[in-house]
Amino acid sequence: MQPLIDNARTFGQRPEEFAALAAGQWPQVLFITCSDSRVVPALITGARPGELFELRTAGNIVPPYASTLPTGEAATIEYAVQVLGVSDVVVCGHSHCGAVGALVRGDDLDAVPAVRDWLTGATPRPAGPAEDPCVAEAVQSHVLAQLLRLRSYPCVERKLADGRLNLHAWYYEVHTGAVLAHRPRSDSFTAL
Ligand code: ZN
Repeated sequence: MQPLIDNARTFGQRPEEFAALAAGQWPQVLFITCSDSRVVPALITGARPGELFELRTAGNIVPPYASTLPTGEAATIEYAVQVLGVSDVVVCGHSHCGAVGALVRGDDLDAVPAVRDWLTGATPRPAGPAEDPCVAEAVQSHVLAQLLRLRSYPCVERKLADGRLNLHAWYYEVHTGAVLAHRPRSDSFTAL
């Protein structure tokens, strides 16, 4: 922890670099990814403060939209799309994802009931070989499932119908840094 504290202490010694951010935020992209510490959206994309609106969940799961049972995830998505007016949403899964791996293998998660219920209740079980340590195929199918879920959000549905929103499915390799994107025409993930 101490190195992180030391860095945070010196970080605020350059206020001139951030003064303009007091005026507000106008990010163009909502970036939805896993909470995994190996995935660092700003590092991957080179985004500066104010450029990426982020939603991070265990397994980059987009939960079902239910207006009667609002979730933090739905609120974040709705705010990004409706209020901030982002033009693009990226759902980015990653290799070696513990959440997707647990789902594919059917791990016993009774010791972590919140994780178990979040994973099994919020998303269909991803398809793919459990023996692949990257769980690449499973993560990629899982990302597409989340994108489909995203399309059912009323605010997303409206913007898509108006042609004012683009959705992207990405797959990030934590062990190489490579980013692959889903190509709808070939229904495959290829290098960006
Ligand atoms: Zn993950």
